Amino acid sequence: MSRDLVVLRPEGLYCEAGGFFIDPWRPVDRAVVTHAHADHARTGHRRYLAAGEAREVMHARLGRISLQTLQWGESVKQGDVRISLFPAGHILGSAQVRIEHRGEVWVVSGDYKLETDPTCKAFEPVRCDTFITESTFGLPVYRWRPDAQTMAEIANWWADNAANGRASVLLCYALGKAQRIQAGLARAHALAGPIVVHGAVAAVNAAYREAGVNLPVACGVTDWRRAAGGEAPLVLAPPSAAGSPWLSRFGESSLAFASGWMRVRGARRRRALDRGFVLSDHADWPGLMQAIEASGAQRVIVTHGFEAAIVRHLSERGIAAHALRTEFGGEAGAESDGEVPSEGGLEASPALTLDGAAPASLLAASPAEFGASEDRRAATPPAQTASRRTS
Ligand SMILES: [Zn+2]
Ligand SMILES: [Zn+2]
Repeated sequence: MSRDLVVLRPEGLYCEAGGFFIDPWRPVDRAVVTHAHADHARTGHRRYLAAGEAREVMHARLGRISLQTLQWGESVKQGDVRISLFPAGHILGSAQVRIEHRGEVWVVSGDYKLETDPTCKAFEPVRCDTFITESTFGLPVYRWRPDAQTMAEIANWWADNAANGRASVLLCYALGKAQRIQAGLARAHALAGPIVVHGAVAAVNAAYREAGVNLPVACGVTDWRRAAGGEAPLVLAPPSAAGSPWLSRFGESSLAFASGWMRVRGARRRRALDRGFVLSDHADWPGLMQAIEASGAQRVIVTHGFEAAIVRHLSERGIAAHALRTEFGGEAGAESDGEVPSEGGLEASPALTLDGAAPASLLAASPAEFGASEDRRAATPPAQTASRRTS
């Protein structure tokens, strides 16, 4: 049996033939980054490679970094492999990484969803021999409803609150989810008043706009107070703002949370929320199965989430599958894209195992580099607050 093209090292997922890591959690020389969420895109690497569509959010999150970008489908040679990136549909610029080595193809999914999202390019299936997939919502209970339906629910809740003079406070992750909601409501012509955004959301909005994404007008709390009328707003804030003095400025309000975890019975009550909207930027169970099937992979490696359920399901259907313990999402204290249950259902272990085997040797080999077109552009300071994870 040939050696695995991507293996687990203490630093993260590693492609030895190419001499690079994918979304490493410790500082490395070369990092291919699938997307700008904090558990996948970390500071401290020497060189970064990401999708061109991710450029603005990567700089907004990581500040001044040496970043090379690839257009969708464009490939670059790195060591003995060719790397190309394909849309993952998760947030703006989120990519699946395709790695080709002597005719063998591996795809690392990063985070992905199949649902429509007006703020990023739709997920594109990529044929491969081995597919490394996330599994954040990898249980059959997780099934999302059509986006339009959820947007209509949010719009109705907002209109109802406005009619009663209450602000509508919607907690959601500042990078990706907040923009998807703003664009989704605008697209549905469902803006029932002013949108007020927390600073963390405003910083990401700016990066999205710079990247050419159309978002409706949103203002900060000061401008909203100054504006005549003071209509009851929709307030978008990260989960960490819950209970903060910042939120108390809106007076009487209804508190809601938009997350895939709202699908779980009791999640809303435990957070003392008035409403929970089931809206996720990760694939649901049918989405995961659809993506796995569309990849045509004979072998599936499952990371961060409910690995066991997917491995069992695929194994029963004759597909070679196993889990790989990564440090994406869920680790206490680490920042993440936040789609993590506050009850700690996704605890990550510091012990790294690859099918129970010890990590391979630690010697990185290739002297090759991420091409010549480095991008050292200055950027706004990292939007730290944009990435605070929930309790
Ligand atoms: Zn993510
Ligand atoms: Zn993730």
